[in-house]
Amino acid sequence: MEALVLERKDELSLRDVFVEEALGPRDVRIALRTVGVCGSDVHYYTHGAIGPFVVKEPMILGHEAAGQVVEVGSAVTELKPGDRVCMEPGIPDPTSRATRLGKYNLDPAVRFWATPPVHGVLRPTVVHPADFTFKLPDHVSFAEGAMVEPLAVGVHAATKVQVQPGDLAVVIGAGPIGMVTILAALAAGCSRVIVSDIHEPKLVLARTLGPVISVNVRSQSLLSVVTRESDGWGADVVFECSGYPPAMADIFDLICPGGKVALVGIPLEPFAFDVSKAQVKEARVESIFRYAHVYPRAVAMIASGKIDVKPLITDRFAFKDSVEAFEFAKAMPPASVKVQIDMPA
Ligand SMILES: [Zn+2]
Repeated sequence: MEALVLERKDELSLRDVFVEEALGPRDVRIALRTVGVCGSDVHYYTHGAIGPFVVKEPMILGHEAAGQVVEVGSAVTELKPGDRVCMEPGIPDPTSRATRLGKYNLDPAVRFWATPPVHGVLRPTVVHPADFTFKLPDHVSFAEGAMVEPLAVGVHAATKVQVQPGDLAVVIGAGPIGMVTILAALAAGCSRVIVSDIHEPKLVLARTLGPVISVNVRSQSLLSVVTRESDGWGADVVFECSGYPPAMADIFDLICPGGKVALVGIPLEPFAFDVSKAQVKEARVESIFRYAHVYPRAVAMIASGKIDVKPLITDRFAFKDSVEAFEFAKAMPPASVKVQIDMPA
């Protein structure tokens, strides 16, 4: 099958690959329709590795996906050929201790699309467990369906920090994950979100997502805006979505006493934070790794109109131009948020 293959660091090709995939009784075969380009895909392309995951042999990229079921295994009753679906890209070992505890995203044996050595889905078809395949209502597009994966990160973060109705939230970083976290925080009940970034076009877009106050930290102090907007009390919750250590250094100054911090962005290097500042506020810190159990909720919120991901889909490419799509994503213009690739029907 023709696929977008990362041959090695800095080398992509659209070429024929043999992928052997048997259809098990609880599997479905899916024809891919839309695949989003994630920062992690681009990072594997430009760096050949993310932390301990190193690209050692050619790997198909792509894990943010929606498609159409073309074949179902003998024990699958809940899906049928023709169903429009989105897929969770991580497949845990169903018998592992983490999975049995409900924390399947933390299963050390999880196999995640486009994380070496597991192939991703920038290819015509994939076989996937029905249990990690979710139906899309007819009025939800494949493009929106492919946004469920990044949105799930924001929904998981808002769920883990237990956003309360009326909370004032801060989102640090207006990249794709910052944007979906804004949507998730507002949908979870936040009255307002203060978002910070250094790129004005991103902040302009973020302000269209709801009651969002933007702070360009090139010229403004995030702390002074949080202080002003909270009458000196601090934010109820801070979502750190930049992974950029200097942006994280003063994170506990931003929260109110008893406030919460969600670490969503993944820093590439270790960074230090001030424990005593966390202690005097009895800060609760939640770390976020992907998501678990939130796909149905994310799909439901897109379907009902509670969350609109469409403004975040800024750039589209045809599958035949996948390499060009990655070149574009590598040098993302500040006004772009999400690049998606349309697969041939
Ligand atoms: Zn992703």
